[in-house]
Amino acid sequence: MCGVCGIWSPAEAARRDAAEAARLMFFSLYALQHRGQESAGIAATDGQDLRVVRRMGLVGQVFSEPDLNVLGGRAAMGHTRYSTTGSSKIQNAQPFVVRDDSLGELAIGHNGNCINAREIRDDLVSRGVRFVTTSDTEVVAQAIANAPGASWDERIVHALPGLAGAWSLVMLTPRALYAVRDPLGVRPLCLGRKGGAWLVASETCALDTIGAEFIREVAPGEVMRIDDRGPVPLADLAAADRRGLCVFEHVYLASASSRLGGVSVYATRERMGEILAREHPAEADAVIPVPDSAIPAAVGYARESGIPFHEGLIKNRYIGRTFIQPSDELRRHSVALKYNALRDVLEGKRVVVVDDSIVRGNTSGPIVELLRRNGAREVHMRICSPPIRHSCYFGVDMARRSELIASKLSVEEIRRHVGADSLGYLSLEGMIRASGGGPDEFCAACFTGEYLVPVRLELEKGVLEARAAERTEPSATGKA
Ligand code: SF4
Repeated sequence: MCGVCGIWSPAEAARRDAAEAARLMFFSLYALQHRGQESAGIAATDGQDLRVVRRMGLVGQVFSEPDLNVLGGRAAMGHTRYSTTGSSKIQNAQPFVVRDDSLGELAIGHNGNCINAREIRDDLVSRGVRFVTTSDTEVVAQAIANAPGASWDERIVHALPGLAGAWSLVMLTPRALYAVRDPLGVRPLCLGRKGGAWLVASETCALDTIGAEFIREVAPGEVMRIDDRGPVPLADLAAADRRGLCVFEHVYLASASSRLGGVSVYATRERMGEILAREHPAEADAVIPVPDSAIPAAVGYARESGIPFHEGLIKNRYIGRTFIQPSDELRRHSVALKYNALRDVLEGKRVVVVDDSIVRGNTSGPIVELLRRNGAREVHMRICSPPIRHSCYFGVDMARRSELIASKLSVEEIRRHVGADSLGYLSLEGMIRASGGGPDEFCAACFTGEYLVPVRLELEKGVLEARAAERTEPSATGKA
């Protein structure tokens, strides 16, 4: 999971609006920080060359005022990274820049996971291409740079059909900005406008933050070039029979303030809570969320059940999201440091605690224990997604299948493991219905095992173990 964004201001508009592209990208990346907290980068241009700043850390730590002044530009692209393929180090930070002797530079930012990166890389290496990172994004960049064609347009259109998996890409050259979504549209990407400038971003919240107007989604399979003429379609690679937006974006990944496919994420999560209350009612005195992502679902559960909503856990907002911390050690510590319980709310009460998902099962137990320690008489855990039983190969670090608690234990066994008085998961049908579409519009493979792109399951051994080995910290447990 990562966040990408881009802006192109025609020369006239840039003069009139006097807004520096890099500064707007900085604030857009701030709004996309929840999609990745390891590194961030911006590439900017005035039409001659590309200037790039990328470092490890949060957006607010990565860019200084002098950086933004140097970047400037009338066009820019930005990236905030959480690693899925490729380890967490500066070499893998994005934007990644490739250079062609005749065409010049191209900067690329990638959200997703190219599942055939290894084969493409082997082929390119056999043709003499040298790689400097372990990330699939460099593979995509080199596949484009080494494709036939007399322009970046031609090379992009030639290379993209060879990629499999999930890829929302934003690319920048001194002459144009490109926005691309894979044929199923697994990762989101939207188009916006601010004054005379055109913008693209992973989520609408990045447009809202800088006062840009949402125009439309970049369609699944759409290859779009943006320059002084505005957006121009270059190719349509859409899958003929279905779409595949990651339903976990609605459950957890996306900001509650964003809209996905025209649907409010906040409203979707409220609906998930309402359906969950119908599917798994409880006799209780209070409904509390595990903040922040489960707040709207708890609001929905409370409304549907008639049980009062309370805040019972207060999140330390300066601890990062546990799920997207790249190592187990960080994840374990952040769970312990993350929440304070409100004894005044919990004392003597039967509590329904609503969370978005249970992945490895390591945080739910401590949460139940924390609630009991602070006076909760009963703890009924409700989860607004189905059990996660399969790994994700499309850009979300779900861990190996063997680490997913629901791949090994039944719901009753999980209940005992986390120490709750009862445990109820939202049904697959309920989750899809709440997300505002039909089953052929979403990827739900981590719940069903039905991958929309054929996944060679030996990748689990190869890619995931390689990823674990590359990390400076060992991999294993994580969120919920
Ligand atoms: Fe999203 Fe799960 Fe599909 Fe991965 S497998 S893209 S997390 S729905």
